[in-house]
Amino acid sequence: MGQIIDGKALSLQVKDEVKAEVPALEEKYGRKPCLVVIIVGENPASQVYVRNKVKAAEYTGMESRLIELAESISEEALLGIIRDLNDDDSVDGILVQLPLPSHIDEEKVIDTIAREKDVDGFHPGNVAGLWLGKDCIVPCTPDGIMRLIDSTGIQLKGKNAVVVGRSNIVGKPVAKLLLDRHATVTIAHSRTADLGAVCRTADVLVVAVGKAGLVTGDMIKPGAVVIDVGMNRNQEGKLCGDVDFPSAAEVASYITPVPGGVGPMTIAMLMKNTIRCFLSRNKE
Ligand code: NDP
Repeated sequence: MGQIIDGKALSLQVKDEVKAEVPALEEKYGRKPCLVVIIVGENPASQVYVRNKVKAAEYTGMESRLIELAESISEEALLGIIRDLNDDDSVDGILVQLPLPSHIDEEKVIDTIAREKDVDGFHPGNVAGLWLGKDCIVPCTPDGIMRLIDSTGIQLKGKNAVVVGRSNIVGKPVAKLLLDRHATVTIAHSRTADLGAVCRTADVLVVAVGKAGLVTGDMIKPGAVVIDVGMNRNQEGKLCGDVDFPSAAEVASYITPVPGGVGPMTIAMLMKNTIRCFLSRNKE
């Protein structure tokens, strides 16, 4: 039976690291880091995520502001609010919770957030920075995944890593981070011919698809580290991942649960990113 990677405990550790940094930053720079979270509309899942992000910011002792906007807000009005926050020197991080209502162009919103305040790491400048190996803000979920993998003590150099899913927010950036650590990386997706065979080559398997139970124990190499990014609702409405936990845990050496794995780490790394933005904006 594989060991469970406790994302909740690890996320608390990360948040405590941030909490310990905040007073020293306030002392040195005369103010605390400040995160602004914007939510448009009343998507219940988004509301939970946003609440958890603000709660985490409060826990660390940094400043946080929640801006709640009506579903009907125009794209131009939202962009105006973002531009004002870009110009506001007391704001270090701006996060616009996705998805947005269909009349608002998400790409335009992401492009409008100042690169140096882009705590999500979605701005094209940060994406380019990641792929070019430059100093940049790394997206929270992939960053959290690396921390979860590192907590197992596995040395990534020369290992086979398989990432299932190729989205811009999880699959692609996590593949690049694994590559940076000298793993041999394969990215699988919906057109991959034999997903099981590809997954079975993985010493480290990261699954970010959005399909409950897609990866089962027979698709996992014995002793692999398995990171389940998926967040799905099963037929009973219970939160579950992309990996069939009972069968996978039989084979894996380490495995993340859902809930309590990648989710809390994403929020913890957002706190880290706010500190990174604060520091880069205050560079002497
Ligand atoms: P996307 O929908 O953007 O991407 C899903 C990817 O999975 C695509 O690349 C798609 O392939 C691939 N895929 C779909 N079906 C299959 C299949 N049968 N076999 C192999 N690959 C397949 O999802 P996201 O990356 O945004 O999110 C993935 C999951 O992670 C979701 O459940 C989401 O809720 C969760 N998530 C969790 C976070 C957290 O903090 N815990 C943060 C972000 C996401 P193709 O490109 O070919 O279409």
